[in-house]
Amino acid sequence: MDSTEFRKRGMEMVEYICNYLETLNERRVTPSVEPGYLRHLLPPEAPQEPEDWDQIMRDVEDKIMPGVTHWQHPRFHAYFPAGNSFPSILGDMLGDGIGCIGFSWAASPACTELETIVLDWLGKAIGLPDHFLALKEGSTGGGVIQTSASECVLVTMLAARAQALKRLKAQHPFVEEGHLLSKLMAYCSKEAHSCVEKAAMICFVKLRILEPDDDASLRGQTIYEAMEEDELQGLVPFFVSTTLGTTGSCAFDNLPEIGKQLQRFPGVWLHVDAAYAGNSFICPELKPLLKGIEYADSFNTNPNKWLLTNFDCSTLWVRDRIRLTSALVVDPLYLKHGYSDAAIDYRHWGVPLSRRFRSLKLWFVLRSYGISGLQHYIRHHIKLAKRFEELVLKDKRFEICNQVKLGLVCFRLKGSDKLNEKLLSIINESGKLHMVPASVGDRYIIRFCAVAQNATAEDIDYAWDIIVDFANELLEKEQHDELSEIMNRKKQDTLAQKRSFFVRMVSDPKIYNPAINKAGTPKLSMELPSPVVSRGSAPIIRTQSSVDHNSWISWPLAFLFNSSNEEKGSNVSLRFRHLDTNVRPSSSRRNSGAGSSPSPENELDYVNVQQQQLEQRCPRRSPMAVRKASSTRDNLN
Ligand code: PLP
Repeated sequence: MDSTEFRKRGMEMVEYICNYLETLNERRVTPSVEPGYLRHLLPPEAPQEPEDWDQIMRDVEDKIMPGVTHWQHPRFHAYFPAGNSFPSILGDMLGDGIGCIGFSWAASPACTELETIVLDWLGKAIGLPDHFLALKEGSTGGGVIQTSASECVLVTMLAARAQALKRLKAQHPFVEEGHLLSKLMAYCSKEAHSCVEKAAMICFVKLRILEPDDDASLRGQTIYEAMEEDELQGLVPFFVSTTLGTTGSCAFDNLPEIGKQLQRFPGVWLHVDAAYAGNSFICPELKPLLKGIEYADSFNTNPNKWLLTNFDCSTLWVRDRIRLTSALVVDPLYLKHGYSDAAIDYRHWGVPLSRRFRSLKLWFVLRSYGISGLQHYIRHHIKLAKRFEELVLKDKRFEICNQVKLGLVCFRLKGSDKLNEKLLSIINESGKLHMVPASVGDRYIIRFCAVAQNATAEDIDYAWDIIVDFANELLEKEQHDELSEIMNRKKQDTLAQKRSFFVRMVSDPKIYNPAINKAGTPKLSMELPSPVVSRGSAPIIRTQSSVDHNSWISWPLAFLFNSSNEEKGSNVSLRFRHLDTNVRPSSSRRNSGAGSSPSPENELDYVNVQQQQLEQRCPRRSPMAVRKASSTRDNLN
């Protein structure tokens, strides 16, 4: 393709994108395809010869689009928004056109410097303290664009780990690093995003997952008690990841409380993950949600969620950039340049070396909307969420399950988790609306997020009408099913009563001969289990076991370590969330004390017990189940 054709095709592409976005509501929001659908439509090999552009574009419409979930669709209310806007698309296009790889200042000075400036702009607009801004006099901090919030959490945990290990090594110069590493403990709430757990797996550190309060907010006292308990067990708290705007219900950890408590544990890194909610802090009235940020060592938010910026653009600020980069610096000669000491080299701020010119799209967005335009957009989404909340509250069959502070509303039908699962499943299957569930406080809830850039009040009303229609249909069917079940059971019970009475009549002389039966005919009442008819009184089915755990430890790879620690056993559950199992370490065993790692033998015992239990429950297991159990054991080995 030469530049003449690029001009032509470029204009056609812009036309295609505009048509796509303008006519989105004519499409199903989610595709109706099965896994592997595309394999049947595309050839198994790449074409040997160049193909015609028009044919490629026809295939986009005929083969690709049927498998696309339309995240910008006005009926898409799942997850959090996927930022998108024309200025951002054009900014990305320009970045792609320039095509530089800005890993160091010298590799493309504008790429580095614009990133620093734009991050300072956004940091100020959000209301971050001055020490997070790179260009503020005397500041040691600064901002960087990462690919995702997960990466922000990972690099901050890596930095905290490096800092903690350095400190421990200085205190215990003759202790092997692997042993020191096995002592490190990170903390987060049960409501934190799973990326914290993934980061802990990558960092090879233990993670203690704590119970939040009834509002899904992690409290200072909970953190304090957990850390104190762990220190007594010989563990070393080194990192706390808090969340402002949790994924499940947009809840806020109590940052002021947590920050205050952490002052009793000097050296512990406090991270704030505000992937979605952080964008909203550009509105003055929402800044109180950022209270406590003065205690934080790092903060991240994703403009690619809620600031009209396309993926990928996840912004991270740190209080001390040297503490971040010292965990990640590798300096081969071929990457050194004359200004290494005077300029920022963003390759030291993250995992990849190569970096796109991502600040361009954020720069285009900030300039073309202005902070006021972005504030208007955020407020508009919040207003829509409030409207949806009101609609839910008006229908007494439903309940609201979160404090609606931003654009996310969590709701459910009053009734069982199963009922709500069914409701969501039939709505999503219809392709008319898309929402996702979450488990908050061990209850199944449905998340409704205001997502589309130009969503209107009518869109919200329309979505609610769809939900109500499906709920009516479901409740009617449920009631019908319940009634027929009651009738069936009654029929069976009456039959059983008659049969039993007959048997007793012929075998019991007291019944057979009323003369000897002073008390008369025995009462044959058989109590029916009272079936639930009214929706309001339907029992809540708990999906979790009734055992209450104060906290979990995700110890994903800990069995690989063999600590020689002989301390007393911990009473804390170990959680292998990725294996969907949990165990309690036995204090009587070697290697199972707190602060040490569960040994492979213990894990094998555990798996064997699990396997026996499984065999008792389902004695005839399919070959697949057998394979699964043995692969779990392989994993643990
Ligand atoms: N943290 C929070 C609070 C989130 O809500 C999400 C995703 O929704 C993430 C982290 C992960 O974001 P990313 O996909 O950018 O890694």
